[in-house]
Amino acid sequence: MSLSEQVRASIEAHKPALIETLFRLLRQPSVSAQGLGVAECAEVLRDIMEEHGIAARVIPTAGHPVVYGEYPVEGATNTLLVYGHYDVQPPEPYEAWISPPFEPEIRDGRIYARGTGDNKGQLLTHVLAVKLLADLGLMPKVNLKFIFEGEEESLSPSLPAFLREHADLLRADAFYAADGPMHPSGRPVVFFGVRGVVGIELVARGANRDLHSGEFGGPVPNPAWTLVELLHTMRLPDERVAIEGFYDRVVPPTPYERELLERIPFDPEEVKRDLGISAFAGPPDLSWYEQLMFQPTLTISGMACGYTGPGVKGVLPSEAVVRLEARLVADQDPDDIFAKVARHVRRYAPDVEVRLLSRSAPQKTSPELPVSQAIVAAIADAYGVEPVVKPVLGASAPSYLFAETLGLPVIWATYANYDENNHSPNENITVECFLNGIVASALVFDRVAKLDPAQLRS
Ligand SMILES: [Zn+2]
Repeated sequence: MSLSEQVRASIEAHKPALIETLFRLLRQPSVSAQGLGVAECAEVLRDIMEEHGIAARVIPTAGHPVVYGEYPVEGATNTLLVYGHYDVQPPEPYEAWISPPFEPEIRDGRIYARGTGDNKGQLLTHVLAVKLLADLGLMPKVNLKFIFEGEEESLSPSLPAFLREHADLLRADAFYAADGPMHPSGRPVVFFGVRGVVGIELVARGANRDLHSGEFGGPVPNPAWTLVELLHTMRLPDERVAIEGFYDRVVPPTPYERELLERIPFDPEEVKRDLGISAFAGPPDLSWYEQLMFQPTLTISGMACGYTGPGVKGVLPSEAVVRLEARLVADQDPDDIFAKVARHVRRYAPDVEVRLLSRSAPQKTSPELPVSQAIVAAIADAYGVEPVVKPVLGASAPSYLFAETLGLPVIWATYANYDENNHSPNENITVECFLNGIVASALVFDRVAKLDPAQLRS
């Protein structure tokens, strides 16, 4: 029997216990944004890891704690750092849930609860795979380290300091995590990087108070127009960003990455139908995936001024606010981009205030590294189908912290069903996806164990 067959047989034999362990973790709320139950959840997770043979402890941070674990294997030369997060999104609105968010329930082959897919169900597969392999006497020769944070859903504020302070403890050869949904076709996704993000707020001010638009409109400046005209200077007719130096450090895809882009299934008509749009935006010479993975954006994520409530109000607003969001690609730097936007604003609308709201750097690991290829192969084995390989995810994640602070190649896979409803009511993971994740983690450990250490570190 192959490793994957043996693991599957064992999963089949222990199914109720595996699901019950997930239920234990799901029953403990851990809403980082609200500070609800997070410390308690760290303890539950530590206990589960200990029960699965992993030496685990809860390490405090300035915010919510990290649960750290080690599973050293005698004679192993390779070390894999496995990441996940045990905190969850706020479950509100409670009334939209068919069963309560912290009382897991199985309906039609799906486990419903907050955190099932994002990320408790996915992180637990790694832990379950360890004990299952050990019990079978099949633990591959790879040292495993686990870092499960409690602040991912709150943008990981304590993670940078944690990684710096514990760089020795976290020393490894590669980073692996499972998070996010599969492709709509049901194929798992493997990705090697994420876009960065910079959130910026612009505030324009006119008179010192809102005014009657009839009695004052005309000679008194309107801050809304100030912002509209400023925004207009930020974009070229082909929808590229007009801010000086914005594209300076953008790295184009390699030939191999281009090949990967072409292999990702894409049906433009279906996407348009699904989104209810008649045409795509963005520079017309760039494909959907090239835009999402290799091009930065500067977009408007919020606008507020004046009155848009019921009825009419003749008001000349005293203040207008716009929120901009830049998604960044390798090798752009969030601080550099913020500085360039601020310089642009000083030039075109010097009285407009510019505030930095959030920042996260882009990160990209080469899909051609031996460890990248090993993980793609492991996932293909586990699911019996080629994964959808994305060089970069359009969204953002704290990948760059691991790449920069610890110097690791960073590789992600997705184990949850496409319709996991992460961040939404009725979040779920199918029992099948949860159990398949255990197989996937076991095979990833096995492939990484077999890598030539010199190649792994090259
Ligand atoms: Zn999330």
